Amino acid sequence: MSAFLEDLKTQGKLKISTDLEREFKWEYTKIAGPCSVEGPDIVEIAKQVKKKGANAFRAGAYKPCTFPVIKEVNGWKEGLKKEGLRLLKSVKEETGLPIVTEVMDASMIDEVAEVADILQVGTRNFQNYTLLDALGKIDKHVLLKRGTWGTIDEILGSCERILVGGNMKVAICLRGVVGMPSYRHVYPTVRWAPDIMMIPALKEITNIPVIYDPSHSTGRRNFVAPISRAAIAAGADGLIIESHPDPDKSISDPAQAITFETLGNIFSIF
Ligand code: PEP
Ligand code: MN
Repeated sequence: MSAFLEDLKTQGKLKISTDLEREFKWEYTKIAGPCSVEGPDIVEIAKQVKKKGANAFRAGAYKPCTFPVIKEVNGWKEGLKKEGLRLLKSVKEETGLPIVTEVMDASMIDEVAEVADILQVGTRNFQNYTLLDALGKIDKHVLLKRGTWGTIDEILGSCERILVGGNMKVAICLRGVVGMPSYRHVYPTVRWAPDIMMIPALKEITNIPVIYDPSHSTGRRNFVAPISRAAIAAGADGLIIESHPDPDKSISDPAQAITFETLGNIFSIF
């Protein structure tokens, strides 16, 4: 462990996230689904995703978009919101798959947790301490996505916020970071730099499960399978992948969505 982290531990700032003896209760390793809930066909989509080996279903009902969405598309405006959650409830009833969906604010925890088994904290909320403190007080799995800027101590600090509240059901999700991908002029949808090396870096100092997101970290569907394999080879505990029946028609994140066939191939590697 670095002297810096050792020091934080000695000062009592990181008691839990650097405790290698502790078991973090995380059961979900193959998470997949579209970026967002787009309509009632979400139930059929979930059945397909389950057939391809997923053990949890992801889809956002509330979507924090980079730019405010001005125009609504069939009820979708930064997500289907309450209707999206209602549809996710049907997914759960019909498939039995645990639901992973984003909670954007502490005031929304009760509403989202009524349907979600795993509350996703998006990259934009990685250091929203009001939200993280509130999630520490509930008994639900939390998938905390790394802020695109997050350093290793910031990752541990944000996990610690939830853990010290008493909620040990935390996993960190690596989803790519700010960088200057030197191939962006050729592949314009590549917005982030894959953060594969953070997997062994975290594994060396903590037992917190590490879930890798090859979709956001690549931004391009042809790169999702190779980066998934790289993440598993590097020691990731699981993957969260965006998959859609007609990838190019996804309302959000179309360029990185993969077909169910590719999803099945990726999930068959581990
Ligand atoms: C998502 O998972 O669809 C998402 C919005 O991810 P992130 O918060 O990592 O951008
Ligand atoms: Mn997305």
